[in-house]
Amino acid sequence: MPGNFVYSEFTSEEMYKAGAKRGSIDPCFPSKVVIPHIHNLLYHQHKKKKIDYVFSPIVDNMPSDIEFAQAHNVCPTITASIEAAKAAFTKEGDLFSEFGVEYISPFIQLLSEQMTAKQLFECFGEKLGLEDGENRAAVKEGYKAYFKFMNDLKSESKQVLELLEREDKIGIVVLARPYHNDPGINHEILEEFQKLGYPILFQDTLPTDEETLEKLFGDEIKAGVIRSAHDINDVWKNSYSENTSRKVWAAKFAARHPNLVALELSSFKCGHDAPIYTVVQEIVESSGTPYFSFKDIDENKPAGSIKIRVETIGYFLKRYREDMIVHNHKVLTIEEKLKEFEEKIRRSHDLSERLSHLDAVDETASIESGGSFVSLKDVKIREKDTVDVS
Ligand code: SF4
Repeated sequence: MPGNFVYSEFTSEEMYKAGAKRGSIDPCFPSKVVIPHIHNLLYHQHKKKKIDYVFSPIVDNMPSDIEFAQAHNVCPTITASIEAAKAAFTKEGDLFSEFGVEYISPFIQLLSEQMTAKQLFECFGEKLGLEDGENRAAVKEGYKAYFKFMNDLKSESKQVLELLEREDKIGIVVLARPYHNDPGINHEILEEFQKLGYPILFQDTLPTDEETLEKLFGDEIKAGVIRSAHDINDVWKNSYSENTSRKVWAAKFAARHPNLVALELSSFKCGHDAPIYTVVQEIVESSGTPYFSFKDIDENKPAGSIKIRVETIGYFLKRYREDMIVHNHKVLTIEEKLKEFEEKIRRSHDLSERLSHLDAVDETASIESGGSFVSLKDVKIREKDTVDVS
């Protein structure tokens, strides 16, 4: 039941400072905040509502739209952080027991519904008194809810894209990892762009309907460059890390859509982003699409420099949009002229055909026209005059 779940708050400086004292996980900010989030549950949320279990699953892989990938694994740093965080609260006495809370961290392979059902049953079967069938039905409902949620977001993104196309506006595709949706981890950079009027489309919720994918990837599929719209092998072969693959795919999407630009977010010391910095930038810029980035995001929020940077990018995007409108107008004018010329040629071609037909008939014959009889010779002269005039 939804009311039975308690979540830790969004990441904040206070939360980080309060929780980080318990221990440190070195590599990157997203893994360092695992301890503060558990601290927040025990020391703050538990006071507001009694918590029985802290559920912190070690998610090994994820469902994916990406096709022909080597694997769909989650970053091993974050999976290991779950156990490291547990150690931080048990190494000098079991704090979970002191709070009357049990820490549960099952290994879950979300890519397979069958495996997830088995792993969750092993974890919760006895604790919640579940039957196997009941557990499977619950997991099925969970997947249904997840895909519905994702599809609803994709439909909303599609509507945003259509609006951008109609009004010649610019949207920003965020190339980042799931936790970069947390305003405390993205340092509210996305909000700053929204304040300037740029819609934000996150990489995981870009529209994947047939019409959009055909428009963006259809030609490359026909040419045999890629096997499907979700194939990234043309630009990235080491596709075992799911969130890396998604980032690469979204970069391709942004590069192919005229109303989108790309904004990459990356955390300090991220061992998975480092090898694809150049790849992502080159994918985006190869089509002349603007690419911006905020790399090395850490616990310190350089608010002033973020603001200046966002405003500079905002200014650039304003100019970029003006150029885009002028360009689109030019393209439209050329297309209109081509259409007009094509119609003229077609008309002329039709008349020539009719004339060659008349050449083949007896000129002394006559036809009825407007109540009187006209000789075919006169009809031919009239038609020829029309061709000469046009
Ligand atoms: S993907 Fe990078 S930033 Fe994220 S947890 Fe892994 S190493 Fe850290």
